[in-house]
Amino acid sequence: VPSTMPERRRPPGARSIELGSVVACLSLLAYLGVGIGTAFTGAGASGPWAVVALVAAYLMADLVSGVVHFVADTYFDVDTPIVGRKFVLPFRAHHACPEDMIEHDFVEANGDSCLVVLFPLVPTALFVPVAHGGAATTLGVFVVAFSVFIVLTNEAHRYAHAERAPRIVRRLQRLRLILPPEEHARHHQAPFDRAYCITSGVLNPLLDRVGLFKAITRLVPARRADAESPP
Ligand SMILES: [Zn+2]
Ligand SMILES: [Zn+2]
Repeated sequence: VPSTMPERRRPPGARSIELGSVVACLSLLAYLGVGIGTAFTGAGASGPWAVVALVAAYLMADLVSGVVHFVADTYFDVDTPIVGRKFVLPFRAHHACPEDMIEHDFVEANGDSCLVVLFPLVPTALFVPVAHGGAATTLGVFVVAFSVFIVLTNEAHRYAHAERAPRIVRRLQRLRLILPPEEHARHHQAPFDRAYCITSGVLNPLLDRVGLFKAITRLVPARRADAESPP
């Protein structure tokens, strides 16, 4: 880590929060999954609408990963209160040392994503009767699939930087279900303003062609004093 990059100190209790988030997230996914399974075995759930929900969740997760990554790369800096250490620093440190993230274990790498998806998962588990079929089940399928893709984002990004990956991962990359290394490589090349999506990366060519992120920086000029030119 270069001298301009403050060390990523872990606050006390960080691991307990990450572990709690992982357990809560997996429990809610299992609970909703059983409810959705009940709706499909007991009829009343629409297969075609479930497919629409899956595709929508796949695209939405990639878009969210791109917007979050773009904001962290482009705005604020590592000293910004609240978001600086937790949100901006991991992305900036990743540009300085792309291989570093491979060393984090599962809980550290995915705890934050699990925490974030509790925001859609908890209200869905409380208020949406996913086992009853119809629109409720379709919404449940969307929320579960979206959450799974968001939780997979860090793993997908890690594997896009890994020299070796299990065969199943390579297959998922080829199928474009998770981010392929050659797609993500464009993001780590000058001028460092393309290919922000890191879940499947499937939206990158479209978003780069329409110039979404360039348009946003024209509206809201970037402030990235400590990351003017990532290596
Ligand atoms: Zn980046
Ligand atoms: Zn990367």
